[in-house]
Amino acid sequence: MTRYSLAVLPGDGIGPEVTAEAVRVLQAAADLFGFGLEAAEYAVGAAGVAEDGDSLPKRTADAVVDVDAVLLGAVGHPSLATAEGRLRPEAGLLALRKLLGAYANLRPAAVHPALRHASPLRPERLEGVDLLIVRELLGGLYYGQPRALEAETAVNTMRYTVPEIERVARVAFEAARGRRRLVTSVDKANVLEVSQLWRETVSRVGAEYPDVRLEHLYVDYAAMRLVAQPAAIDVLLTENLFGDILSDEAAVLTGSLGLLPSASIGDGPGLFEPVHGSAPDIAGRNVANPLGAIASVAMLLRYGLGQREAADRVDQAVAEVLTAGARTADIARPGEATVTTRQMGERVAALVLGAAVA
Ligand code: NAD
Repeated sequence: MTRYSLAVLPGDGIGPEVTAEAVRVLQAAADLFGFGLEAAEYAVGAAGVAEDGDSLPKRTADAVVDVDAVLLGAVGHPSLATAEGRLRPEAGLLALRKLLGAYANLRPAAVHPALRHASPLRPERLEGVDLLIVRELLGGLYYGQPRALEAETAVNTMRYTVPEIERVARVAFEAARGRRRLVTSVDKANVLEVSQLWRETVSRVGAEYPDVRLEHLYVDYAAMRLVAQPAAIDVLLTENLFGDILSDEAAVLTGSLGLLPSASIGDGPGLFEPVHGSAPDIAGRNVANPLGAIASVAMLLRYGLGQREAADRVDQAVAEVLTAGARTADIARPGEATVTTRQMGERVAALVLGAAVA
């Protein structure tokens, strides 16, 4: 039997609640598809500070580099909101991403028909929306040298090398092969030299994927396309800063933060986590929506373990639970009955297993 090792980092606030349900669903998928899981829990964020005085304790850092994939809940605690250095919970997350060499951040945004009312866009605009943003995560303006802040002048540098562009482009083209086979590469090649290199390099990588269509858009037009015609986008590939902005824009389409998963993949084990934070306002009440964490498990199966069928099964179970009308408070209409975090997890796990019997 194939066995996978996992590091589970529940983190803070609602992190442990949603992670428990994600692990429940992952175990159901493992049972169904006949693979084994060895999952061990480690502290991160405020939980790491409480355990070891560090938001990324050494025990956690040592463990995550040595597993097949990492599943994270969320970090952040009001009592440490103004803490400095490694005592800040969010610093632990940044250190973790860096440690894992995660150069590609994948954020899907799909709109379930039953939840179109939750989106700020008109329902007809949302028909068929199912897109994946692939954002370069370790280069560009956020890291480029020189950088400086002086009294009258400030400098940041947008810098990319060909290998940095190639490796993230490959992630996008490979992902497109499992989807609708369209890559929309986003740049500002009419103004920026770095974007010209980006465009040339992506085109060259694209030639290795003749079965995937490639189009190039300027970032300003891409921002409009995301709200005007989001269904026309399959895989959107872009650099760090543009991706930061566009992935938040895409998140708004779905209407609820609680539904959105993400993956950060690169040289080491992949890191899979819901997009939302630790939501201290609802923590400990068994009301958080675990579907973002559960959808992160689907990404873990697909991109972290290469278990595509199991990944599809989890995605399908999430869609089915929503079709069946299960709603946590964040996605319920006024007056609609709600389920708890745990009930939602149990229902998705049952649906994952149910399909095998049918
Ligand atoms: P947040 O995502 O935690 O919460 C924003 C709002 O969305 C809140 O009203 C919350 O109740 C709601 N929400 C979020 N996830 C939900 C879910 N699964 N189900 C139902 N409702 C949900 O963002 P915030 O309030 O700005 O930040 C809280 C803390 O989380 C801060 O410490 C912040 O730094 C941290 N944070 C961490 C991450 C991460 O771990 N990746 C991401 C964002 C924010």
